[in-house]
Amino acid sequence: MTRHPLRSARRDTASTPFIVIWEATRACPLACLHCRAEARPDRDPAELTTGEATELMRQITAFGRPAPLFVITGGDPFARPDLYDLIRRARELGLSPAVSPSATPALTPAALTRLHRAGASVISLSLDGATAAAHDEFRGFGGVFGRTLRAWQSARDTGLKVQINTTVTRTNLMDLPDIAHLVRERGALLWSVFLLIPTGRGRALTSLTAAETEDVLNFVHDIGRTVPVKTTEAHHFRRVALQRHVLAVRGADHEQVLGLGPLYRDLRRRAEAHGLIGADRNRRPPIDVNAGRGLVFVSHTGEVSPSGFLPLPAGNVRERPLTDIYRDSEVFTSLRDPARLGGRCGACEFGSVCGGSRSRAFAVTGDALAEEPWCGYEPGSFPYPGDLAELL
Ligand code: SF4
Repeated sequence: MTRHPLRSARRDTASTPFIVIWEATRACPLACLHCRAEARPDRDPAELTTGEATELMRQITAFGRPAPLFVITGGDPFARPDLYDLIRRARELGLSPAVSPSATPALTPAALTRLHRAGASVISLSLDGATAAAHDEFRGFGGVFGRTLRAWQSARDTGLKVQINTTVTRTNLMDLPDIAHLVRERGALLWSVFLLIPTGRGRALTSLTAAETEDVLNFVHDIGRTVPVKTTEAHHFRRVALQRHVLAVRGADHEQVLGLGPLYRDLRRRAEAHGLIGADRNRRPPIDVNAGRGLVFVSHTGEVSPSGFLPLPAGNVRERPLTDIYRDSEVFTSLRDPARLGGRCGACEFGSVCGGSRSRAFAVTGDALAEEPWCGYEPGSFPYPGDLAELL
């Protein structure tokens, strides 16, 4: 039996998120070009205290079982001296914490071992170029690439699973097959291909066109049976997964039907040269989660928003339980209502499983319900609507 090309969050995302991301601090010594948090060197005195952070974790457990994934991000979570204690408390409460550290000198093998012993299961590391020159320019400091590779190895040696995050901008497009090759060679739980949201310091980076985005998403699909890959803030990858599934069953030429361009051909050629177009493993179907619909973000001061890239405050966990904010606030309920989507997203037959990046719509237009600016799809134009209807 063929697997369905999409995966569901296996819970009612109107009442329980799939993932809670907590920005433990904004402090970070790096100066990455795309930084969402516009991180700074020092900790904010208004950060959630250890006690308040523990209370936040209790609020997360109130969503019930299965507990949402719990990601501690930053800034650099290592800037908090209570990090290990918080991870232990998360474990005691039944959460399975993942940590997103920055590649600073604090990310030593000893620190990673301590993290694992405290109860962290996964860390994510950023890799935005396949060479030291490319990555370090992006990260704003020399030596970060080498430190990232060493931390990657140390983390795996100590028993932590590693997710690699890559922010896609116009400047690193052609590095993507090389980064995918590194991921395959060195081993990772997952490669997260994140399409830039033009916010924070990322505003200054050059954006992709909708056509280039289609090429990138189809390249990501192509390598999905050799590299464990997912996309972040590229919800239309779910549309691509459905289209590619139908076209493969039909024996149709995806490049021609989807009108893919020269960038796709270049990326695919490079992927083939690395042996990345094959069938080593089962494809990982993209999961149906979007800002406010399965995803919730809590800032360093306890402000809740639908995503770290969608700065629409919906309440503060210091004043109102996270469960209430997630389930009942207007910001969240409106994002879960596909009927409120505007432009092409509002008219799109893929709207119920895609919906576009609400963060990018907000960053580009100021309206979180506007159409996804980096999607090139014309609703109703896919030539096999009957096949599609059976999958939706
Ligand atoms: S138009 Fe919107 S809903 Fe349709 S595929 Fe594009 S981003 Fe998704």
